[in-house]
Amino acid sequence: MRAVVKLDRGRGCLLVHDRQETPLDAGQVRVHVAAASVCGTDSAFYESGDAGADLGMTLPRVLGHEVSGTVIELGPHSPESLLGARVAVETHLHCGECSFCRSGSAHNCSRMGILGVTVDGAFAERLVVPARSCFRIPDEIELETAALLESAGSAMHAVLRSGVNLAGGSVLISGAGPVGLVAAQIARALGARAVVLVEPNPHRRALAQRLGLSSLGVEQAPLDVADERTRSWGGFDVAFECSGAMPALEVALASVRREATVMSVGLVKGALPLQVAETLITRGLTLRGSWGRSLWETWERMSALVVAGQVDLASLITHRLPLSGLPEALDLMRGQAGKVVLDPALPDGPESRFTQREVLHQG
Ligand SMILES: [Zn+2]
Ligand SMILES: [Zn+2]
Repeated sequence: MRAVVKLDRGRGCLLVHDRQETPLDAGQVRVHVAAASVCGTDSAFYESGDAGADLGMTLPRVLGHEVSGTVIELGPHSPESLLGARVAVETHLHCGECSFCRSGSAHNCSRMGILGVTVDGAFAERLVVPARSCFRIPDEIELETAALLESAGSAMHAVLRSGVNLAGGSVLISGAGPVGLVAAQIARALGARAVVLVEPNPHRRALAQRLGLSSLGVEQAPLDVADERTRSWGGFDVAFECSGAMPALEVALASVRREATVMSVGLVKGALPLQVAETLITRGLTLRGSWGRSLWETWERMSALVVAGQVDLASLITHRLPLSGLPEALDLMRGQAGKVVLDPALPDGPESRFTQREVLHQG
């Protein structure tokens, strides 16, 4: 089958045409891929084979982890009802047996595998996943749209983990990428009074505007544009840092009111310079991380909001490309794109830039 493979630690990937099908173990299913959306982490993996080292990535590896499709084959002991089902897949593959898994906290599994990192992923015609990691897509959600449920779920999980009641509250969100835009829509659905998005990229700000969300660039201080009530409290009730940029996390910490919560969602690299007494202790702030999605509460709540029309995921998709389009997708994501979806059914481009890059890289 055709698949996008990270071969070695250098830059680039290869579109191979004869990737061997993985045989099915007990409890596994084979999924025919309908859509696989491209994530910022795929970009990091494309640039360097070392980017996935701290997540346990081994090479060669088929990339891609945000996926929807149809179950076409069952391994032994997989539930028969899954055959033919439309599913999206949880990226974080839980073992089902460790203490976390047995305690209803499978997203903290101590033997967690990661799709497209520790096992072959979704930028392929088909992939093999555990049946227990499949989420049945509600009939009302298009297959293609369902590929976005995973990244959207990261936003939902962060909202749930914040523990903050958003009704009537003021919310600061940095990063109008797919996660930030969904977090903003969730906040609106939950009755937030004011949602302020901070995003330097004008194309992403335009996308936010089309979703009815107001945003500002990084040159403006969020508190300057906040409503009177937010300013009178000295800052926002809660902030979600979804950009992964260190300065944005610092702005978030500076822009919330006393005893507010700052959720760190975007993968900020490096050490945070933090004045513990001035920033955290005397202002009573909570700084909390959020990683992945809970099984299956996040998915249930997220898809329910999509079905209810309160979160628009379909509009986040701005480009559809064949598997050969991954390099173009990564370029688009640096500039003008919302979410880019790879559809393995689309014919590959005749002059795949992909292969050229790979040739350059190997040369
Ligand atoms: Zn992702
Ligand atoms: Zn486990």
